[in-house]
Amino acid sequence: MKKLVCAVLLALCTLSAQAVTKVASLHPLLSDMARQVGGDAVEVVNLFPENGELHAFEPTAADVAAASGAQLVLACGKGVEPYLEDLRDSLPVRTRIVELGSTVPDVYLPGSQVADPHWWNSPTAMKRASRALRAALEQTEPASKEQFTKGQRAYAAQMDALVREARLAFARIPQEKRVLVCSHAAMSHFCKDFGFTALAVHGIAQESEGDTASLARILAELRQKSVLCLFYGVNEPPKVLRTIATQVGAKALPLALDGINPATPTYAELFRFNVKNIVEGLSR
Ligand SMILES: [Zn+2]
Repeated sequence: MKKLVCAVLLALCTLSAQAVTKVASLHPLLSDMARQVGGDAVEVVNLFPENGELHAFEPTAADVAAASGAQLVLACGKGVEPYLEDLRDSLPVRTRIVELGSTVPDVYLPGSQVADPHWWNSPTAMKRASRALRAALEQTEPASKEQFTKGQRAYAAQMDALVREARLAFARIPQEKRVLVCSHAAMSHFCKDFGFTALAVHGIAQESEGDTASLARILAELRQKSVLCLFYGVNEPPKVLRTIATQVGAKALPLALDGINPATPTYAELFRFNVKNIVEGLSR
């Protein structure tokens, strides 16, 4: 009996020592990562609007208020959130902004010195970022260390499994057809992981327009490579890319380039959506 009372008391003490960590997130995929790594030891507030455009998003006053109540704010980093310094100035000192992408090595756009900020398209990069998230969570709430370690290990294993699954699926695509032509330059990290060549019709953001000369160059390159399919961002108007696809005799399919697709809210679902469309587009 005495032993049972001690055990109950110990359990109660442990429970009271573990507080729930409040985490605000600026990207749906980071919200998903926080939920999976943190489990019930975290409360996640997703600040990104359901059908928002990543490169145009700025937090509203309500978002800043929500972030103020959090201990951690998760950001992609790598310049994805140009408003980050202003947000930092608006938040209380106790709220820490963690740029998870800063732990991921840069991958440059082909033939340029510009780094592609869309690191979430690589499960390997997501795995690395999950370690940085675990470290930040442990620092904030050391009493939940064990749970964060367990959650991160499971997340990392899931990323490894997705890589294996994708490699198997891509075996259907001949080496010479592994050219990923996207509406904006968002797949360099993915291409590095899976042995594809990245080509983009426009720059890093959807709204950046290519000039006529570079468009003519791209058209010539697509024809020369006999590219089978072009890919547009799932939340972008596909008209321009479809027109180009028709001109070079290719298909056009969507990819969740910015990691935002309400129809596929978890990383695994979103990644599988991309893999499925790439296989469909580039297999003969
Ligand atoms: Zn983008």
